[in-house]
Parts: sequence; structure tokens; C-alpha cells
Amino acid sequence: MTTLHIGIAGAGLAGRTLAWRLLRAGCRVSLFDSRQRDALDTASMTAAAMLSPLAELAVSDDAVFALGQRSMVLWPRWIAELAEGGSEPVYFRQKGTLVVAHAPDQSSLEHFTRLLQHKLPESCRTQVHTLDAAALAAQEPALAGRFGGGLFLDGEGQLANDQWMAALALEIDRLGVQWHEGQAVEKVEEGRMVCADASYAVDVAVDARGVGSKAQWPSANPLRGVRGEVLRVECPGVTLQRPVRLMHPRYALYVAPRPDHQFVVGATELESEDNGPVTLRSTLELGSALYSLHPAFGEARVLRLSAALRPALDDHRPAVVLRGGVWHINGLYRHGYLCAPAVVDELAHKLLGTQSMEET
Ligand SMILES: Cc1cc2nc3c(=O)[nH]c(=O)nc-3n(C[C@H](O)[C@H](O)[C@H](O)COP(=O)(O)OP(=O)(O)OC[C@H]3O[C@@H](n4cnc5c(N)ncnc54)[C@H](O)[C@@H]3O)c2cc1C
Repeated sequence: MTTLHIGIAGAGLAGRTLAWRLLRAGCRVSLFDSRQRDALDTASMTAAAMLSPLAELAVSDDAVFALGQRSMVLWPRWIAELAEGGSEPVYFRQKGTLVVAHAPDQSSLEHFTRLLQHKLPESCRTQVHTLDAAALAAQEPALAGRFGGGLFLDGEGQLANDQWMAALALEIDRLGVQWHEGQAVEKVEEGRMVCADASYAVDVAVDARGVGSKAQWPSANPLRGVRGEVLRVECPGVTLQRPVRLMHPRYALYVAPRPDHQFVVGATELESEDNGPVTLRSTLELGSALYSLHPAFGEARVLRLSAALRPALDDHRPAVVLRGGVWHINGLYRHGYLCAPAVVDELAHKLLGTQSMEET
């Protein structure tokens, strides 16, 4: 039997994770990316990587919720499988999310709670707990005395996206990927990757270039970039167990803890395809949200300010479609990490012509 040769354009979260699943299944994989593997200016490397099916339901729909719930089962399994290859374990936590608001912004929290209760399937409502000040302090001692209460969303999680992307890179190298680093794909065609100076034949072509494949999406279902900015700090004076979302009438922001007392604060959401550096205005908004969560963050050291474009379709759902003989995986928008395992698994089993590779 000949080995199926799959060409993937784009080594972001979607393309890199798909490459790994296909290599594990015995395929030959050629992976192309215009950037180097550790470039920081992509959505995949910029994300906070919170895995929040419930909190995201307030701004998404039941399709994203279902993909998120399925992915929450797959993430720990896939992280364990990745570590079997010998890579460093990827930081993953599933300790829920806290949602809080300062006293003047309580109506934002009340609206969020009502929206969630309205959209959440009956069977999942037990995952939402209203906390008074004492219960909030017990859950997150660093926030004791700072808020009159909040919401606890049970079962939500987070991972370190930079660790996931780095561990995948090592593992797909080990499994023999043909990685064309720094090689832009100009066009993905049926059975062919077209680059500036050469064209590569493959059995099956996959386009996973995020916003880079904008021109390949029809005007009836356009792909756009949605700018997002995050701030990463280090602050030994504060310990958080889980991501905290801060409701605000103008901008809802979050603080996601990472190993070594680092925190990712995000994210702005701007209808713009400007991929330039973070603006002063956004820096002030992100910094003030962080400082208002806990004054000890005033001494935090700024490690990085980054901006990237989230690839979004108008319905804000991820898409796996076959068009003109090319498979497209795109539209991961602001839920890419939340939905990636379910979406990648769907495409992997379509490419392999098998039933779902992962029973949940
Ligand atoms: C600020 C911010 C915060 C976020 N927070 C979260 C979160 O908390 N939870 C969550 O679930 N999601 C989050 N996301 C969303 C998530 O990061 C994205 O949905 C996901 O990373 C998209 O992955 P992708 O592989 O489709 O696209 P990308 O990451 O954009 O990757 C596309 C790849 O294609 C390559 N490429 C582009 N053009 C070409 C070309 N012509 N030839 C070859 N290669 C090309 C690029 O170099 C890149 O490596 C966040 C995103 C941002 C920006």
C-alpha cells in the first residue's frame, strides 16, 4: 500500500496539529509556512489559549460550544500522547474560570450571567456557580476582599500555547515531517502547493494559512482578520489558580496565569486587519484592567506586548470544507484553542477516510 502524501500550507495551530495527527496515523506530510516555526506574530503564538466553552458561549453559538466541549475531553488525552514522544509536558490546567466585576460594573456581570443561563443547555447549567465574597476568596485567595462576589465556571481550562506549538514542532520533526520553513505558498491547488520558485505535488492539499488564505475564500463566505492584542507580564507578588475574566461595559478583559508567575492579559478585539505593533491605547486598557484586578500587579514586569489577526468567517464558526479539490481548515477566530482538537480530528478522519479517530 502506498503512503498518503498530504501537503499542508500553514504551520499554525491548525496546520501543525493536523500534521501531527496525520504523521501519527502513518501519512507522509509536507508542511509549508512563510514564517519560521517560532515566529511570534501569528494568532497561534499570541493567544491566551483559554479553553472556555461556557464563557465563550456569551459571544458564540451552540456549534462552537459543542466543539469546545468535545475538545475539552480531547485536550488532556492529546497532551499526554504528545508527551509520549519525549517532549516536555505542556502546561494544562482545568480548574475553571472566575468572572468578576467591580461594583460600578455589576450590570455587565449580571447581563453576562443572564446571557449564559439563556444560551447554556439545561444539562450544563450546574457548571455555573454564583459565589459570594467569602466563596470567591476561598477559590482565589489573591482576590480576597477585592470583589463582592462573582461567577465560577466549572470545567473550563487553559494551556500554554507556546509550549504546545514548540512541543508539536519537536514531535513532528521526530516523526519525519518535511517542513518547508520560511517558504510562502502562493496558491493551494488540487494536488499541488504552488510556491514562488517551485511547485510541489501532493496526494491531498490542505490550506491552513489562517488570514493568509483570505483570497481563497469566496465573497459569499468571506474570511477576515480580527485584530487582537495581549500583554504578557511577570509578577512574583500574585498567584492565581485559574483565568479571571473582568467584566466591563466598554471592554471585557481577562488575566490568564502561566507557569513561573507569568500572566497573559487580553485581549482587545478590533475589526481591523492592521497587524502592526500594539497601540498605546490598548496598552493602557490592558494594563489598567490588570492593575484594577490587584494592585500588586503595579510592580509586574512587562515581558511582551503582541498583536495578531484572528481568522474569522461571518458566522464565527470554524470551518472544514472541501472546495475545488482543496481542503480548507479555517475560521478558528477567537476559539481556536478551544475548538482545535475537535476540528482537527474531524478533518484528519475525513482525509484518512475513517470514522472519527477519537471516540469521546
Ligand atoms: C490576541 C488573541 C487571543 C486569543 N485567545 C484565545 C483564547 O484564549 N482561546 C482560544 O481558544 N483562542 C484564542 N485565540 C484564537 C486562536 O489563537 C486562533 O483561532 C488560532 O491560533 C488560529 O490558528 P490558525 O492555525 O488557523 O491560524 P494562524 O495562527 O494565523 O496560523 C496560520 C499560519 O499560516 C502561515 N501562513 C500565512 N500565509 C502563508 C502563506 N502564504 N504560505 C505559507 N504559510 C502561510 C502563517 O505564517 C501561520 O503560521 C486568540 C487569538 C488572538 C489573536
